[in-house]
Amino acid sequence: MTAPLHAPQRQFAVHDDCLQIGALALPRLAQRVGRTPFYAYERGHIHQRVAALRQALPAGVQLHYAMKANPMPALVHMMAALVDGIDVASGGELKTALDTTLPPARISFAGPGKTDAELACAVAAGVLLNVESEREMERIAIVGERQGLTPRVAVRVNPDFELKHSGMKMGGGAGQFGVDAQLVPALLRRLGQLGLDFLGFHIFCGSQNLAAAAIAEAQARSVQLALALAAQAPAPLRLLNIGGGFGVPYFPGERPLDLGALGESLALQMALLRAASPATRLVLELGRYLVAEAGVYVCRVLERKVSRGRVFLITDGGLHHHLAASGNFGQVIRKNYPVAIGNRLAGGPRETVSVVGPLCTPLDLLADQMEMAKADAGDLVVVFQSGAYGLSASPAAFLGHPAALEVLV
Ligand SMILES: *Cc1c(COP(=O)(O)O)cnc(C)c1O
Repeated sequence: MTAPLHAPQRQFAVHDDCLQIGALALPRLAQRVGRTPFYAYERGHIHQRVAALRQALPAGVQLHYAMKANPMPALVHMMAALVDGIDVASGGELKTALDTTLPPARISFAGPGKTDAELACAVAAGVLLNVESEREMERIAIVGERQGLTPRVAVRVNPDFELKHSGMKMGGGAGQFGVDAQLVPALLRRLGQLGLDFLGFHIFCGSQNLAAAAIAEAQARSVQLALALAAQAPAPLRLLNIGGGFGVPYFPGERPLDLGALGESLALQMALLRAASPATRLVLELGRYLVAEAGVYVCRVLERKVSRGRVFLITDGGLHHHLAASGNFGQVIRKNYPVAIGNRLAGGPRETVSVVGPLCTPLDLLADQMEMAKADAGDLVVVFQSGAYGLSASPAAFLGHPAALEVLV
């Protein structure tokens, strides 16, 4: 018997009472993993997601994985075989990406504070550096001279527009990311003098966006801006990375992104770009959209406690593994992630509970007065939409509890 699942959970199968992850029922998976808490990421779901994107997007658009969304090495290795490139944001991520089968030329490195050691590693490996400031460009040139290599660079532009309705804005206005659009022409002149290998532009405006029209507008403006700036570049535009920002629904009332609409508007941009600059590769870089819905976080109920009429499920997992679900990763008003009792999905009595972790802080909250199946010690709590910005974005050392495990199934 199968109970209706609330929207974000529908991508997983349910058998009898239990959530199925990959081929296994949740309690069996928990047994295999050996202990809770753990994250499980479903390969099949990631494959489907990439296939759906390829289907919806115009031919020729290249897909990159922004690995800060989920840097688990096994997942990054799998992703390397599915996408056209990987975007990294630190020397550590660069090392993981270089360990995959992907050619180094398909790796790009962005981030406003790259050390000389990181630049040296990137130049030596032949990865693309997204230049974030004039000073950084000078440092890249010095590194290249020292190594006798010509660094491959793209200029990250901080545009004079923003991506509206984003969960997080990373472009438009003043900020630490990229070079302000009006300063780019002068920087391009200097880039030519330095003899760097110019590939193109990187324009990333924001994250977690569910409004296809807003994304389409930012993409159109990005193409326009890139073509205008390209006229002043020392070499033809070979690469244009227009970011991504594709969001996933987390909360009641949120709807999945309209991929069809995005595909149509991008086809238009692709045609414009092809007409003006036929040899330019158009790249989308996505993190969350590729992996968030493929992942769950699983912890076990240690105790069911009643305090002044309210029920608390106290679990072995919490914000130290999953800061985002606790509401402390950039949320202004805390909302519940989709949470369920993963081994009691087929009806039975229900109650309103708060799911909390073991930490000595009231911030350690995974669900605040949410209705779910009535549970007790030993039951498994599942937090859905947990494949992105989960474990690696959480303060694992806080209070010294054991680390969460991660499995790719
Ligand atoms: C974080 C980041 C991404 C990924 O963002 P998502 O919202 O996870 O898709 C892509 N590009 C850059 C430059 C980033 O900093």
